[in-house]
Amino acid sequence: MTKFQLTILGCNSATFAYNRHHTAQLLNIHDRQYLIDCGEGTQIQLQKYKVKIKRLNHIFISHLHGDHYLGLIGLLFSMHLSHRTEPMYIYAPNGLDEILTTHLRHANTQLNFPIHFRATNPEKSEILLDEDEVLVRSFPLDHRIPCCGFVFEENHTQRRLQIDLLPPAVQPYHLVALKNGEDVEIGGRIFRSEAVTLPPKPNKKYAYCSDTRYNEAILPYIAGANLLYHEATFGSSDEERAAQTFHSTAQQAAIIALKANVNQLVIGHYSSRYEDVTPLLAEAQSVFADTIAAEEGKVIEIQNCEAMSN
Ligand SMILES: [Zn+2]
Ligand SMILES: [Zn+2]
Repeated sequence: MTKFQLTILGCNSATFAYNRHHTAQLLNIHDRQYLIDCGEGTQIQLQKYKVKIKRLNHIFISHLHGDHYLGLIGLLFSMHLSHRTEPMYIYAPNGLDEILTTHLRHANTQLNFPIHFRATNPEKSEILLDEDEVLVRSFPLDHRIPCCGFVFEENHTQRRLQIDLLPPAVQPYHLVALKNGEDVEIGGRIFRSEAVTLPPKPNKKYAYCSDTRYNEAILPYIAGANLLYHEATFGSSDEERAAQTFHSTAQQAAIIALKANVNQLVIGHYSSRYEDVTPLLAEAQSVFADTIAAEEGKVIEIQNCEAMSN
């Protein structure tokens, strides 16, 4: 089975508290690493959880509140000092490029590796990356400053060959055609793609909703995800405060999960007013049973529905 695995590196909002770091997650899809948000201390967390940063080439930053990106400069400098030369792709709101450039100018430093910066669009969904059967899209969230969520989705389009149903005379170009759903003729006999191949592998989908107010406009983007991360900064008793600060409650996160028909929900971005997040988890589970609470070091295997029911 191909890997599709999420590691929680940080799950607190605003301040470091109760040993909970700021937001950062590492997604591993088919052994490719994607860093999602990079709060302060992320490089320490990456080291702690034995992530090889050499293989990290794409960093996605949801928005420019410090608890989501203040670890970035430290991480990039560590990469520089360890003689990285491979390009780094950073997807973030406009302004982060300016912050990085200003910092590097005042540090009188030129990194050993190029940074390719792609500004995210806080107004509409866009494809950010399409590589090796992985598609990453951004979509607008409802926060106090421009903020995007991200959807990471496998993009298997090729049918799977059943090689034992084909004759020995089969050629590589036949296989390509069959995988693309085309019928072929081998030795005067027609082989229908549908008869000798299986449908493409089911695509797994992870949706990441960092800081946002409750907003059903995000539902079309996250619908049917195998795993949804949705912030749950507050409990229901602080619903008003959540709305004022453009955040969500645990119950609201669960309502979004329910309406988006996802398989599993993980909540996080806890306010420092909660040392124990069990009540937030219970609140979410009362609406959406398959909810888990983000905890640092927790590794979540993202599975498709067939595998989950096994
Ligand atoms: Zn935040
Ligand atoms: Zn924020």
